[in-house]
Amino acid sequence: MSRFESAKTILQKYYGYQEFRSGQSTIIEQILNGQDTVGIMPTGGGKSICYQIPALLFEGVTIVVSPLISLMKDQVDALRNIGIPATYINSALNSDEIHYRLSEASRGAFKLIYIAPERLETSSFISLLHQINISLIAIDEAHCISQWGHDFRPSYLSIQKLIHQFNPKPVILALTATATPQVKDDICHLLGINNDNCIVTGFARENLTFRVIKGQDRDQFIFDYIQKNVNQAGIIYAATRKEVERLYDQLTSKGISAGKYHAGMNDAERDHFQERFLFDDVSVMVATSAFGMGIDKSNVRYVIHYHIPKNMEAYYQEAGRAGRDGEESECILLFAAQDVHIQKFLIDQSVNEDRKEQEYSKLRKMIDYCHTEGCFQQYILKYFGETEAGECGKCGNCTDQREKIDVTREAQMVFSCIKRMNERFGKTFITKVLTGSRDKKVMQFHFHKLSTFGIMKDRTQKEISEFIDFLTAEGYLRPTDGTYPVLSLTNKAISVLRSELIVLKKEKIQAKQIVKDDVLF
Ligand code: ADP
Repeated sequence: MSRFESAKTILQKYYGYQEFRSGQSTIIEQILNGQDTVGIMPTGGGKSICYQIPALLFEGVTIVVSPLISLMKDQVDALRNIGIPATYINSALNSDEIHYRLSEASRGAFKLIYIAPERLETSSFISLLHQINISLIAIDEAHCISQWGHDFRPSYLSIQKLIHQFNPKPVILALTATATPQVKDDICHLLGINNDNCIVTGFARENLTFRVIKGQDRDQFIFDYIQKNVNQAGIIYAATRKEVERLYDQLTSKGISAGKYHAGMNDAERDHFQERFLFDDVSVMVATSAFGMGIDKSNVRYVIHYHIPKNMEAYYQEAGRAGRDGEESECILLFAAQDVHIQKFLIDQSVNEDRKEQEYSKLRKMIDYCHTEGCFQQYILKYFGETEAGECGKCGNCTDQREKIDVTREAQMVFSCIKRMNERFGKTFITKVLTGSRDKKVMQFHFHKLSTFGIMKDRTQKEISEFIDFLTAEGYLRPTDGTYPVLSLTNKAISVLRSELIVLKKEKIQAKQIVKDDVLF
């Protein structure tokens, strides 16, 4: 029997699955052939099997580097349950226990050892690892190694050193669910993996339906939604602990069986709610992003984001916790413009000055997602580099029956105003000029003398601001990075100004005023 046939036998015997999923077989084949590999698969795609099965076929031990300390024990227990000898080493253990486990490992007692990346920063630990015959190093959540990733962890960089310390060099498998093309290249570069050995399985999760809801009472929406989906498991993500507590109190006071999870709770409380959710004792989990990394609950039917997440990576990862069993599930984002400030605040609090710009621009793409009128699924896939993706046909935008209206004229008003302001200002200021505000700054720059001053004064600032968001999302306007992005025109906008391209939008921007051509061109 070839090694690959043995892999399939293990899949059937230990895991009870008949076939490998797309991507799994290629990755496993490459690993068995000794080729270092990067595997990019969506959450729920089945990454664990890609290293667990080779681990059983290789002679030595497989080291799994994983940042998810709280889950290591569960993962190891799950392996033991199906008869695979495994253990873990993290900061929860004392040094005697660590020595004991490693000496057991050198005797060949385990096939897999899960370790936290921080372990690799101590040379004493590395020297202990030398006593073990390591065949494979699997790196979970491999995007953490990249500065361009959304969750950079400096301790991941020690993996680079580790790899080259063993002779013969173990096979390397880097796995992640959230790599943009740039992050993928970075993983390859940092770990010395050939770009041709990257296996990217389709990011599309066909059983997920995406929707963005704007301008609704969110508390009411959630309550109604839960009522309509009683007994279905769902996760509601909120941006702050305070909001989690508030929503949790509100739902439970209305008799809904809910759990809560955030980093401000103690371990016992968190475990309590997590267990209750995993075992379907409560159907709704209200949580911050602290909840869910690696949680294998397959029957989550919906994920609702009460606030906009910080970027598309985080969104797709969290939303992707719905429907891991392949059944139809919904991912809903409740958008309110004011929440963008929460995320900006969180970025300001959490990252170094030099990463801020990058985080802001990622947030910008997330905001664009909320304003696009194109297919949501397609937007997500494009973000992750799948440029050929078609429309899903079932998301909130694909099923939006409203007729598209020609808003070319309105778009021209906005573009020509931006041009006359020399493309040096942000949305709020542009909106002021368009609505004819006699704000001090407007007067100071003499913008009240522009022909486009006040040409949209029959709309509210909010309407125009939303229209500008739409034009940005659709790629007519290009924002700079930073807290207050400056908007400039893209070639698409220039074509609209030249009347070579029309702009269609589903919601009407009322045009009550007649504006003569010579004002615009
Ligand atoms: P990921 O780490 O990519 O998020 P997991 O490795 O946790 O995903 O796998 C997700 C789910 O898919 C698990 O319940 C796993 O048992 C299941 N799974 C993995 N491979 C297969 C397969 N070949 N056939 C059926 N189910 C599978």
